[in-house]
Amino acid sequence: MESVPMRITHQRKVILEELKNLGNHPTVDEVYIAVKKRLPKISMSTVYRGLEVLSKNGYIKKLETIDTQKRFDDNVTSHYHFYCTNCGNIKDAPIKPENLGKLQKEIGEIEKIMEDSGYKVDGYTLEFFGVCKDCDEK
Ligand SMILES: [Zn+2]
Ligand SMILES: [Zn+2]
Repeated sequence: MESVPMRITHQRKVILEELKNLGNHPTVDEVYIAVKKRLPKISMSTVYRGLEVLSKNGYIKKLETIDTQKRFDDNVTSHYHFYCTNCGNIKDAPIKPENLGKLQKEIGEIEKIMEDSGYKVDGYTLEFFGVCKDCDEK
């Protein structure tokens, strides 16, 4: 992947700040609504493009999830997600890559099988889904 050094424009700074304020892996719509409060003239496509550029440059992460809506994450460290099938919220799973221990080694072996079969693997996602704590308490 090629990345051109990014200009942090004022708009992108606001997008980044609002993404961090929202937390909880907001959708493009949610970021747009928040940003629009500060920059009333901004368009949806500018926000979307801003998010794409920020993620390409490693400031944020684009989530690859089973959710159909595109979501973004201000946590760029390696972590896993829990998707609530009841409320649709995505939370960071309380595990770290090192918690996976043996599994991670095995995934490495699986990746090797993939590569040996001619697939160029860039990574994998591990996603948990079920009912989150908030929904479970209701
Ligand atoms: Zn929930
Ligand atoms: Zn996350």
